[in-house]
This record gives sequence, C-alpha cells and structure tokens, in this order.
Amino acid sequence: MGDTIFSKILSGEIPADFLHQDDVCVAFNDISPVAPTHILVIPRHPYRNLSEATAKDPALVGHLLAVCAKLAKRQKLTAGFRVVTNQGDEGGQSVDHLHFHLIGGRSMQWPPG
Ligand code: 5GP
Repeated sequence: MGDTIFSKILSGEIPADFLHQDDVCVAFNDISPVAPTHILVIPRHPYRNLSEATAKDPALVGHLLAVCAKLAKRQKLTAGFRVVTNQGDEGGQSVDHLHFHLIGGRSMQWPPG
C-alpha cells in the first residue's frame, strides 16, 4: 500500500466523510477548498499519478472521471465545473496518490496559475 495521507484516509486512520465509494474509488471533500465545491476523487489502489495509472490500469481513469461527472450532477453544478489532476513538481502535485479535483460553484480563471 501507499504511505500518503490518502492511504490513511482510505484505511480510516484519518477521518473523512465519503461522498461516493465503490470497489475502485472514493470521493471526499478537500480539506482546503479553493471553491464552494472541491471534492477529491481517488482510486483505492495507490497509483502515484495519472501516468502510472494509465500505464497499469487504462480503464480506471475513465471510471474516476465518470464519478466526477456524477458528483457534479449531484452537487447541482449545472453552470459548469472543472476537473483537474496535478502531476509532479511542475504540475503542482503535493500528494503522491492519483486524485482528481472536482471544483465548482464559482467562475474559474484561465490559464491556471
Ligand atoms: P495536489 O496538490 O496533490 O494536486 O492535491 C492534494 C490535495 O489534497 C490538496 O488540495 C489538499 O488540500 C488536499 N489534502 C491534503 N491533505 C488532506 C487531508 O488530510 N484531508 C483532505 N480531505 N484533503 C487533504
């Protein structure tokens, strides 16, 4: 298993309310939200990032994105939303366990910082 904060959330060592859970992933609110809705969708398997996950389990990412869309609908983000994954130092990744950020509830800027 991985040894990141997200592994501790998956094991229950660190508490988090799951907004979605199934055999392959869970979703919970980001501890430091950047928008009114800021949900993290993470696989149970501790792939470090998008590149590793797509190499080892290509179907997984489609499932994670489908869960993002389902949660966006449930959160009533009808005006739009953003889904982001950060990878590596230049990508701004701080937790080395693949996760998608589902962000919404306000207007987004482009390009991102
Ligand atoms: P990254 O910077 O890797 O793309 O995103 C990691 C995200 O995890 C950040 O948005 C950060 O706020 C969130 N995060 C870090 N530690 C915790 C935690 O203990 N609980 C929750 N719910 N989110 C966390």
